[in-house]
Amino acid sequence: MSDTQRHYATDEMVKRINASGRTLSAAQYVYYYEEAFDPFYAVVREASWIMDAIPTILEIRGTLKFAVVGGSTSPFQVSSIGDDTFVIMIDERAFYGLMKLSLRIQSLPPLANLIKNEEKSQPLDYQNKFLLDITKDIVFHYEDASDLISGKAHRSVYQAAITYILGHEIAHVAHRHLEFLQSNEFPQFCVDDTDRALTLRTLEMDADSSATSSVVDVFERFAKALEYSSATRGGIEKTLLLRKHYVLGAYIALIYLDTLTLNYSPTTHPISYARFLTTSGVFQRIFRQHDPEAVNIPEEMRKAVIEVFVQLSGSLESLGYPMASNVLVSNGEDHQVALYDALGIAIGLEQLAPLHSRWARLLPYLAAFRRGGKLAPASAKPI
Ligand SMILES: [Zn+2]
Repeated sequence: MSDTQRHYATDEMVKRINASGRTLSAAQYVYYYEEAFDPFYAVVREASWIMDAIPTILEIRGTLKFAVVGGSTSPFQVSSIGDDTFVIMIDERAFYGLMKLSLRIQSLPPLANLIKNEEKSQPLDYQNKFLLDITKDIVFHYEDASDLISGKAHRSVYQAAITYILGHEIAHVAHRHLEFLQSNEFPQFCVDDTDRALTLRTLEMDADSSATSSVVDVFERFAKALEYSSATRGGIEKTLLLRKHYVLGAYIALIYLDTLTLNYSPTTHPISYARFLTTSGVFQRIFRQHDPEAVNIPEEMRKAVIEVFVQLSGSLESLGYPMASNVLVSNGEDHQVALYDALGIAIGLEQLAPLHSRWARLLPYLAAFRRGGKLAPASAKPI
């Protein structure tokens, strides 16, 4: 069996999912390996090596496969199909959309220069547009992506974006979120709709934290394998550059998921700014422990990616996206100035506080029957 087939759902699994209609998947059709290989080669190739890298780290018990799907209402999902078997389904359009957005953003100034990517400026007219309107246009309307792949376009950025998204789905399996929702323990964590939503948002936060650590684990292993971390200055520079790429990839994944969603005030997922704070917080914590020289990378990449959009739209005010500006300050006249500052971060973190408390209460239950992976330690009083 080839390397790419090893992690692909078997014909029997695909048949079972397709036969279930929309019960086991949100897709119109799940492709068999033979059908997916040629037309969706990039999806199969990338998902294969990522699946290879992540579950090894998490030492998952059970069977975890992936499949390419078409016409799904859920761009990326994981489904339990019985017999301890889980299939991550990747909508092919969602995959290519993410690749396109990533390649487009990373080729624009001033970011391109900062991450040593070839700059490919286009006469894009996005004056005064919201950030998510710009990304929608790039994903759904901007046609010619072939020029973006040519030349020096780092694949590590979109590979990190996909690793983040798959890492999130894999965490739901590894941490047994799916079984927990079906268990006898779950009712005490959903006494009413608000309580249920709090529990679900907390599990999503856990999946985001785990996805972030997976990105670090997978790409740091590369750095080691390539001996980037050898004591030479050149090796250190290469490692720092790779870190910029993978942090950027995770941020682009979050921006992309917001681009696809129509639900702007989700109750079962943390709001998008809280997801960003969780992700950047995990990066910062890991860097602080392992390499003080990398501590500023998460903030440096946030600023750089936002600057791309500021240059496209003309101002920070027009972007209307919390990762760009988290507070609005009146300038005393009739004008409001958008800022990104510590107060806005504090307000954002406050929204995460109840999730951390819920996590502290959930932890012993999840720890008792997880399949693998590392659960984040509790950092708040249980509620
Ligand atoms: Zn999720």
